[in-house]
Amino acid sequence: MIGNTLKRLHPRLSQSRSFQTHYGSWINGASYSPSSAPTYSVVDPARLNHLCTIVDADEATVDMAVKSGRDAFEKGDWRLMDVRDRAEILNESARRLRERVPEFAETESLQTGRAIREMNAQLGRLPEWLEYFAALIRTHEGTCPPFKGPYVNYVKRVPLGVCAQITPWNHPMLIAIKKIAPALATGNSIVVKPSEFAPITVLEFAKLMTECGLPDGVFNVVPGQGACGAALSGHSDLDMVDLTGGTPTGRKVHEAAGKNLATVLSELGGKAPMIVFNDADIEQAVNGTAFGSFIATGQTCIAGTRLLVQEDIYDDFVAAYVEKVSKIRIGDPKDPSTQMGPVINQGQLEKVREFCELGEQEGGKILTGGKPVENLPDELKNGYYWPPTVIGDCHGDMRVVREEVFGPVVVAYKFKDEADAIAKANDSEFGLAASIWSQNIKRAHRVADKLDVGIVWLNDHHRNDPSSPWGGMKDSGVGRENGIEALHEYTQTRSVVVGFDDTPFDWFVDHDAR
Ligand code: NAD
Repeated sequence: MIGNTLKRLHPRLSQSRSFQTHYGSWINGASYSPSSAPTYSVVDPARLNHLCTIVDADEATVDMAVKSGRDAFEKGDWRLMDVRDRAEILNESARRLRERVPEFAETESLQTGRAIREMNAQLGRLPEWLEYFAALIRTHEGTCPPFKGPYVNYVKRVPLGVCAQITPWNHPMLIAIKKIAPALATGNSIVVKPSEFAPITVLEFAKLMTECGLPDGVFNVVPGQGACGAALSGHSDLDMVDLTGGTPTGRKVHEAAGKNLATVLSELGGKAPMIVFNDADIEQAVNGTAFGSFIATGQTCIAGTRLLVQEDIYDDFVAAYVEKVSKIRIGDPKDPSTQMGPVINQGQLEKVREFCELGEQEGGKILTGGKPVENLPDELKNGYYWPPTVIGDCHGDMRVVREEVFGPVVVAYKFKDEADAIAKANDSEFGLAASIWSQNIKRAHRVADKLDVGIVWLNDHHRNDPSSPWGGMKDSGVGRENGIEALHEYTQTRSVVVGFDDTPFDWFVDHDAR
């Protein structure tokens, strides 16, 4: 079926396999680059090489993309298509993405500076999101509540309409696919605005899905800068805005979309605590917390950035953790042996540097890192490199403890007992994720139950699965990605009530006629 659909819909599309040096927006199944529009450059953060030129999507382009999505939703057959056919397009996209993982991973690594080892592992799992939602939509359509009386009430889940999806640069494809898969599986049209720093893979993925038979206009991409995001989130013809980004951006998006009564799903910032009890398996806890902190150069919303250690093991544990992280191999993201690449851009590098200085001024002690990486090879000398940094002797009133750095900077401090650990972990504006390190299973569950966060790992950190709800409490956002929750986020209910009683009914009986 797919092969035929493909030929019918897109005879002009070949199986292009190389990434381009110039991209416009992707609207209605084709590239759109108005010649007068300004352009910007996507740069490799390890070498500062120019990777490609992007035509900055302006307000008029955003409007075109939303109209394209609206037409596809109202006039096209995507939302009305048999779920088996929609699922087949998602499954075919998963198959083709799987074939092209090395190519997508390489580009993802180039545009983000993330180590190729990480990107191969991450991209290798992404087809699962498409397959999971393809399966979910085939097995779940709604409910049948116990309506009182001789009635059957069935509740269908129907798509919302046109959904904007605004994404950051740290996991460009992972975060986009977490949004794209449930939105498309449920029959919506989408307009994706990838981060200006890393838009290439999402643009390529829109092309890939078009090649798999996705009808034109269902999946649009506007690769503009912040102003494009603002134009998109405030567009009056959207039904939903789904943002992953910083909490300040989240506030602006909630306000802009709220004016149009569009639904908002927001996955925002974090400052995840890693709580290490004195009964932890110390070696595994050191390895696991090091991974939790510095994978992706610490640039993840769930990065374990607050290392909370029970006071009687604090000195030994922190020493072992510092020894471990100071040996993380920093280098060329393209090299499979590299364990940590640069941060994304100059602005982030400055922010990281300033937070390290601030941490010291506030009374913290730099235990490792805290100054630029030395001995980089010549070709990486201009890259945005910063080493794993651990600041000890911290406390909950310091800005470096309370604010999101979004880089390789961890603050370490002590707690006395369970109650103190919970109080310190919860003493944050954020509420995204946490990990607990203890071999006492009762304690671990007891503490997990009292943390004000959306995700808790016990003796682990960072793990993610398409079936597992993902999202934060407090200032970390509203709503959930993944799982049946995401399917619900991207649909609304239509309740149909059917009476099956044959007894004649007349509320306004005409008594005079009797
Ligand atoms: P950001 O908020 O600067 O940008 C995110 C996206 O929003 C980008 O595409 C950007 O162009 C766009 N944008 C900027 N201003 C906008 C506006 N006024 N209106 C609409 N869109 C706008 O974030 P970033 O620097 O790209 O990413 C880092 C942030 O993302 C961190 O705070 C991190 O914690 C968060 N994040 C959260 C999760 C999660 O699942 N909770 C995952 C990854 C990243």
